[in-house]
Amino acid sequence: MHTALECSLTGEIHDANCLQGLSRAGKPLLARYDLAALRDWTPAVVRARRERSMWRFHEVLPVNELSEAVSLGEGLTPFLKCVERGVFAGFGDLWLKDEGFNPTQSFKARGMSAAMTRAAAFGVQTVALPSAGNAAGAATAYAARAGIRCVIFVPEDTPPANILESACGGAQVVLVNGLISDCGRLCRAACDRFGWFDLSTLKEPFRLEGKKTMGYELAFDLADVRGTDRLQLPDVILYPTGGGTGLIGMWKAFEEMEQLGWIGSERPRMVVVQADGCAPIVRAFEQGATFAPMFPNARTAASGLRVPAAVGDFLMLDILRKSGGTAITISDDELMQGVYELARLQGVHAAPEGGAVWRAAVHLRDSGWLRPDETIVLFNTGAAVKYNHLLRCDDALRLDHTDPDSLNQLEQSLTASGFVQR
Ligand SMILES: *Cc1c(COP(=O)(O)O)cnc(C)c1O
Repeated sequence: MHTALECSLTGEIHDANCLQGLSRAGKPLLARYDLAALRDWTPAVVRARRERSMWRFHEVLPVNELSEAVSLGEGLTPFLKCVERGVFAGFGDLWLKDEGFNPTQSFKARGMSAAMTRAAAFGVQTVALPSAGNAAGAATAYAARAGIRCVIFVPEDTPPANILESACGGAQVVLVNGLISDCGRLCRAACDRFGWFDLSTLKEPFRLEGKKTMGYELAFDLADVRGTDRLQLPDVILYPTGGGTGLIGMWKAFEEMEQLGWIGSERPRMVVVQADGCAPIVRAFEQGATFAPMFPNARTAASGLRVPAAVGDFLMLDILRKSGGTAITISDDELMQGVYELARLQGVHAAPEGGAVWRAAVHLRDSGWLRPDETIVLFNTGAAVKYNHLLRCDDALRLDHTDPDSLNQLEQSLTASGFVQR
């Protein structure tokens, strides 16, 4: 259980024993733990646990007892070595953390599990949030689990799968003719008027805490695949960045693990991947800025990346610079190409955000920024099924099973396409 909430900009301490939103300076609050008191909490203790979710790290999550957790089994996602095949050749040690395996098919589950746990502990009756898509589905599910009412504000062109899962799950869906930032403003005003709790990411401290468990897991994943007890971090992490909660969270996890004595001072180079049509952090990074101005006319099919302004902008930019990382954009056409490549060459049905990260790795390898001997981790943050509206099926064949000539027709088509050689 955390002992304090600290402003990420000013360091000012806020009361940890009540519901909190942003700090008095209007910035994200970071949960602090008495890590020195956790001397007996070692990686071996975590490994021996039966708990099959991210809550195996409950000492650094917002609960006193594991039984308080509002959980659907989030976390402990597959950690896969990329097969060196086709365009994937030429990477010596490329890995993919597949967050599409979470409840509600995205890593938003981790954050919502932690935040809803805290809201439930304080008896919150209604939560509200703006969402680009996946946060809505996750919030709906965890609210249902906790018996809390949920209101979501989403752009009207949000992927249908996200709107439907929220509607089916009993959330009050509000479709807004604008961007997620417009949804955020409306949501804030509605929370003030109706007394709802605002679950906007980084505007309450605990979605970050849930997402940080990706950083803990990664260190265990790498140790496991290398057959060692010593926790390890990769050389580089590529992360599809919207609000940046996962990136900031993982960095926080690394700092905590160092304080726990689990790892040393080594850190991965962190890479922000955004879409061409919405790249506020990439632009600010390139310009050497401390904060990122609102990105005008934000557009991308990768809805998780459609965040034109992020409250955690200064934290991300700081992490990029401290880690020796970089920031890169990918076009919508190319990130969809990445989705098909991951599906066809790795068997991973990734979200467009995952496709973007993979294509960013290709560019960074070709430019020499990534070296072939480095351990690189790609984050696929969601599953392709949420984005069926973007996927195409152009090369299906049609056959009439009552036609005696159908097998000949099949042979002709397959020969013409080169699938079968004669
Ligand atoms: C929300 C989301 C992102 C962006 O996550 P942040 O941690 O807020 O930057 C990326 N990918 C998917 C699939 C998402 O749903």
